[in-house]
Amino acid sequence: MAIKPSQYIWSQGRLIPWEEATVHVLTHAIHYGSSIFEGIRAYATDNGPTFFRLEDHIRRMFESARIHRMDTPFTPEELTRACHQVVSANNLESAYIRPIIFYGYDSLGVVPQPDSLQAVIAAFEWGAYLGEEALANGVDVGVCSWQRPAPNTFPTMAKAGGNYLASSLMSQEAKRNGFKEAIALDSRGYLSEGPGENLFLVRDNVIYTPSIVNAILMGITRDSVMQIARRLGYEVREQVLPREFLYVADELFFTGTAAEVTPIRSVDHMMVGDGKRGPVAEAIQKAFFDLVTGKSTDFDNWLEPVAHQPAMAEV
Ligand code: PMP
Repeated sequence: MAIKPSQYIWSQGRLIPWEEATVHVLTHAIHYGSSIFEGIRAYATDNGPTFFRLEDHIRRMFESARIHRMDTPFTPEELTRACHQVVSANNLESAYIRPIIFYGYDSLGVVPQPDSLQAVIAAFEWGAYLGEEALANGVDVGVCSWQRPAPNTFPTMAKAGGNYLASSLMSQEAKRNGFKEAIALDSRGYLSEGPGENLFLVRDNVIYTPSIVNAILMGITRDSVMQIARRLGYEVREQVLPREFLYVADELFFTGTAAEVTPIRSVDHMMVGDGKRGPVAEAIQKAFFDLVTGKSTDFDNWLEPVAHQPAMAEV
């Protein structure tokens, strides 16, 4: 899905025209993947565009930076304000927000130069990542031959640019094999996650999701869904799970900021349940969308309406 350009991008403390937000071809991050980033959504609500768990995304961004020993040029408060500013300046009713901090043009040694760090934030309109149809009917997925990184290779808890080479190989393989998306195992062969989604499994009304030791990103939607599910009365277990659990599950679904709550209708060409969205996924999906769109109680202050700013406000 091509990006739908908006008008402004927040770059290094200023709003600049979308077309001017460019980098040099020798930018360190292009060569070595030395960036950390976030993907955040703001939903249209009766109170106008409203961020979902902005504070938690900003926190994860700073944790990713810390893991990579990156000395961020802005504070969490400044980047939070900047997220508000860029959504507001672009007059977006709903948005996908992509802050990224990366090492820029300096030397080409692999050791990055702190002075070259740059922060930018884009915000644009974006629909359902795996498609509207997928939300209702589910997607076909396959376990891919690429595994998630082993511990002691590079940290999967950090949301860093370079990590996504693994995700890209997974997704490309899935598409080639006729699947909508991939599921990867970790280096020991246990269930891990999708290229940009966390994985949930349901069996006998108990909800399971791979643990933090299975090379996953600690998804914010994963956390939200675990909390929503517990509130709905489900037992939720984070644990190490074997691949074959996929084949005996009553339901499977993905979660992610982009994928939201997407049911999985088949895995490795085997139907999951009766091959359509199951009742647990449906209940969680409904509770999730009611929550993010402000239709139900915001039980943990997860919603933060976009503060209106003048169209060309500058920090
Ligand atoms: N795993 C990976 C590898 C991801 O890129 C994402 C998307 N950020 C997720 C899981 C889901 O995380 P979240 O719910 O925070 O978007």
